[in-house]
Amino acid sequence: MKSRILICNDDGIYSPGIASLAKVASRFGDVRIVAPDVEQSSMSHAITSSRPLRYRRTPLPGGFEAYRVNGTPADCVALGTYLWERVNLVLSGINLGPNLGSACWHSGTLAAAKQAALLGLRGIAFSTAVSITEKAPDFSQLEPYVEKVLELLLEEKELCLVNVNVPEKPRGIRWTRQAVKQYDGKVVPGKDPMKRAIYWFTIKPLEGEEEGTDRWAFGKNFVSITPLRLDLTDERNLARVLALPITPARTARRKPPANSTKRDSSR
Ligand code: MN
Repeated sequence: MKSRILICNDDGIYSPGIASLAKVASRFGDVRIVAPDVEQSSMSHAITSSRPLRYRRTPLPGGFEAYRVNGTPADCVALGTYLWERVNLVLSGINLGPNLGSACWHSGTLAAAKQAALLGLRGIAFSTAVSITEKAPDFSQLEPYVEKVLELLLEEKELCLVNVNVPEKPRGIRWTRQAVKQYDGKVVPGKDPMKRAIYWFTIKPLEGEEEGTDRWAFGKNFVSITPLRLDLTDERNLARVLALPITPARTARRKPPANSTKRDSSR
């Protein structure tokens, strides 16, 4: 039986990136697109719980069966796999902009793949660079790499959740880990036309990257493939605290240090 591949994104159903991903994916199985009706970038794993969702057939160039949903990427995957049984694989993207390092926490593209993993399915997120001139990426140039990555990952059945970033002009593929050393979140204050304070939560360029990370590979124009997992447990610290007594000796801790009185009186 042919695989069933559900395609989602966070840029919205009319993004050129999703059409490109559907095109490549259709070489591997039956494809159905279920994606947000408007852009949902940076929505991370939000779900819609306070209003109903709608699932509407949408004509798209390329003739793919496509449905738009008035919700988030995670909603689309939940609904898409509910209304199309026996989905084998969920692909998300191709996002217009990379999702590297700490950006994984905010990414709606990755959240669609995570939602698949939560449902016990395989999820793979694809993102690419967008040039400074903001012209659309040349997807035809990226597609052979997306196809190669899919070939590779379809064989690696143990990998349930994968984050793939494809640079503008790839020169190879690297297995990577998520860069966590830096965070580019930055608040920029400004004024609105009425001179009231406003704020932009934006990004600042990061410098330097650790070898072997997604940012390192992407910076060197390699496609980065990062296997991820849902378990966020800090194993090292859990092992450490498990070795400690469960009730700390609070009374002993509350005692002021021996020289504290002296220090206070000298002020
Ligand atoms: Mn996006």
